[in-house]
Amino acid sequence: MSKVRYKFKCVFCGNCCSDKGTIVNLTYLDILRIVRGLNLSEHEILELLGFFVFSSDLSEETLQKMVIPPITTLKGKAFVGLLKNVEGACIFLKDNLCKIYNLRPMFCRSFPFSFKTKDIDPMDKKVEIHMYYTSKALEYCKGISDDAPYINNKKWIKIGNKITKELQENAQFIEIWNMNVEKGRIQPTAKNFIKMIFRYDKK
Ligand code: SF4
Ligand code: SF4
Repeated sequence: MSKVRYKFKCVFCGNCCSDKGTIVNLTYLDILRIVRGLNLSEHEILELLGFFVFSSDLSEETLQKMVIPPITTLKGKAFVGLLKNVEGACIFLKDNLCKIYNLRPMFCRSFPFSFKTKDIDPMDKKVEIHMYYTSKALEYCKGISDDAPYINNKKWIKIGNKITKELQENAQFIEIWNMNVEKGRIQPTAKNFIKMIFRYDKK
């Protein structure tokens, strides 16, 4: 477990939810949680999502570094995120509070931290979770300060564990999507992507 001690206490400044330059990237499980929690149809969830297409080709190195791999769409590689309002804030932010707090995506749950795994015993599939402040958090999170209390590392590592498992599951889901698109088995439209997520819900 991480031995470094971190200081943080959310002061609800809303900076992480209103940063114009941040897209709230979603896993397919995040989408499912929102769909179930708000009881949304395929059409309704599509109204809340953006398919953000990468403007340039991605190198293999960049792809390897991405915790959420991009999906193949008709317009190129893209990632799926929550839409933003005209001011650039997340559509679910209201009076600096999250309207879907209990259903908020993993990306929001883990902020201001990011997690990475390190194999400590590959034979035994044992991994160690390391955590660190994200660069965006260091830029604008008012909850990180000398006056803030030390966080409970155990609690956060538990969150990190859950997130890393979910990211692996999501990577498999995206691999299947991309493979089906490559083989011409599926038209890579936003509608079909959501349909595949709904099919997984029934599994
Ligand atoms: S889903 Fe909620 S916590 Fe996440 S960015 Fe939007 S308002 Fe903020
Ligand atoms: S930027 Fe930091 S302090 Fe502000 S709402 Fe987000 S997590 Fe809380």
